[in-house]
Amino acid sequence: MNLERETLEVDILIVGGGPAGLSAALRLVALQRREGGEPLRIAVLEKSRQSGSHMLSGAIIDPSGLDVLLPDWKMLGAPVETAVSDDRVYYLTERSRWRFPFTPPPLRNRGNYIISLNRFVRWLADQAESEGVDVFTGFAGAEVLYEADRVVGVRTGDRGVDKHGVRKETFEPGVDIRANVTILADGVRGNLTKTLIQKFRLTSSIPQTYAIGIKELWAIPSDRVKPGLVIHTVGYPLRNEEFGGGFIYALSKEQLAVGFVVGLDYRDPLFDPHMAFQQFKQHPLVSPMLAGGEVIRYGAKALPEGGWHSIPRCHVDGALIIGDAAGFLNSVRLKGIHLAMKSGVCAADAAFTAVRADDVSASKLAAFQTLVNNGSLRRELYPVRNVRQAFGAGFFAGMVFAGMSFMTRGWWPLGQLWSGSGHKKMARLVEYYRAGPPGPDETSNKLKIDRTVTFDKLTNVHHSGTRHEEDQPSHLIVQDTDVCRTRCRDDYGNPCVRFCPANVYEMIDDGSGTGHHLHINASNCVHCKTCDIMDPYQIIDWVPPEDGGGPDYEGM
Ligand SMILES: Cc1cc2nc3c(=O)[nH]c(=O)nc-3n(C[C@H](O)[C@H](O)[C@H](O)COP(=O)(O)OP(=O)(O)OC[C@H]3O[C@@H](n4cnc5c(N)ncnc54)[C@H](O)[C@@H]3O)c2cc1C
Repeated sequence: MNLERETLEVDILIVGGGPAGLSAALRLVALQRREGGEPLRIAVLEKSRQSGSHMLSGAIIDPSGLDVLLPDWKMLGAPVETAVSDDRVYYLTERSRWRFPFTPPPLRNRGNYIISLNRFVRWLADQAESEGVDVFTGFAGAEVLYEADRVVGVRTGDRGVDKHGVRKETFEPGVDIRANVTILADGVRGNLTKTLIQKFRLTSSIPQTYAIGIKELWAIPSDRVKPGLVIHTVGYPLRNEEFGGGFIYALSKEQLAVGFVVGLDYRDPLFDPHMAFQQFKQHPLVSPMLAGGEVIRYGAKALPEGGWHSIPRCHVDGALIIGDAAGFLNSVRLKGIHLAMKSGVCAADAAFTAVRADDVSASKLAAFQTLVNNGSLRRELYPVRNVRQAFGAGFFAGMVFAGMSFMTRGWWPLGQLWSGSGHKKMARLVEYYRAGPPGPDETSNKLKIDRTVTFDKLTNVHHSGTRHEEDQPSHLIVQDTDVCRTRCRDDYGNPCVRFCPANVYEMIDDGSGTGHHLHINASNCVHCKTCDIMDPYQIIDWVPPEDGGGPDYEGM
């Protein structure tokens, strides 16, 4: 049935109010002020109820993005206060640690700051709103609007549909927001970017590689750490076949961010990234810092780690892709905020010129690519273009390659290192456990939860502040749940139960003799996108829930 929909017309629509999207908005305002002319109507669509609520990061910010965007950020009161004062890197074994005699250049953080990305993004949104940008929070882009093959805006999700798909009395159809240029800044594995990449086959030569980052914010006794302390770890609890490591950032002497990142290209189907994070917290390096403290917040989010060669074509007729959605992240430095911001600036420059010239074709918007290629984005990402892929051969091989790569600025006799999609690297139970696979409900890195330093997923979800309207269709769409019951259970032991850090997926035996079936606790979802990325059959689609639901990452 055709619905009467409200339509809103703007010049430039930005989907996603994170560092990338808000930087694009602020740069557009600056261009407008510099160039004059008819004022542009700029709108930002953000799915969280409040700006910054869905932000999860480490986070150490390299201020170079801010310097470009708002050179007087200190005067403007940016919440960027804790300068990094001490940088350490450790190799961990189960019981001991070995401190690197020097900090490898990519992990040096002098001149950088430890921030709460939640507070930083809220501040960016305030700056944008005070400059006249419309920031619509609580509205998610549900689908891209096209005319022929030109992007002409975005439709927001319908509201007021019950869990059976039936309209409630409160039903409101989504709004069509039409724009000359749409900038997609919908973050890692953005739902709109995903459809755009598929429609126009924008994928680069190397598929994107992802990781999951799991983090807790702790209130700790004030005698444990100095503000500005930064620790990165490699090794335990990961094995040579897994990529990742831990981070500990002291925001103040009483507040510590503790997190763990695991490459979503691990082989063991019974591996659980959330358990790896718990093992990390129990390590003798970490647990004494946390003892006597308490968790304030928990969360998880994926990161795009593939680097330069995994960035898709980012311009089509009427649209650009920026930030994590495109993959502008330096995984060797574990930094994407400044790159997201710089990509927002480049997109604003390209979009502004295109709108003023009344030509928003892909060839005009390709100016974005030229700005990226000629500026600091390529300068930072190109020299490390092969490093993440090299870790596909194992941790130690990757470390050797990374070292060589810094000496040669990324040159490698065989050119570009290829790497397949991470989910394809997961081995079947019988391949991985040749001596006889354990049961499908086992976890290979299980640990006893003490509820002091370590927590189960449900307790952690409670700490994420996640809230969704319960009576709505599931925003996690599994195209064929029979696959879960049959092939996935036999082949992989339902890895979604383990890789989801929020207990969204459960395999339940209801005793009816039909075996286990999938149960989805959609209201637990912390929007990390791991299921959409890591499902071995690629049958899970994450789409935005209605009404701004999701985590509440206050202070994260
Ligand atoms: C555990 C972890 C640690 C990290 N540590 C660091 C660090 O120390 N330093 C650093 O520089 N980087 C770090 N990063 C990376 C950094 O956080 C990202 O690169 C950066 O946040 C990307 O910004 P973005 O604006 O592109 O995407 P995001 O920050 O993800 O913002 C995207 C926004 O779009 C919104 N959105 C998504 N879909 C829709 C939709 N359909 N409609 C409307 N809105 C939508 C989201 O709610 C979100 O607000 C880390 C990341 C993780 C996960």
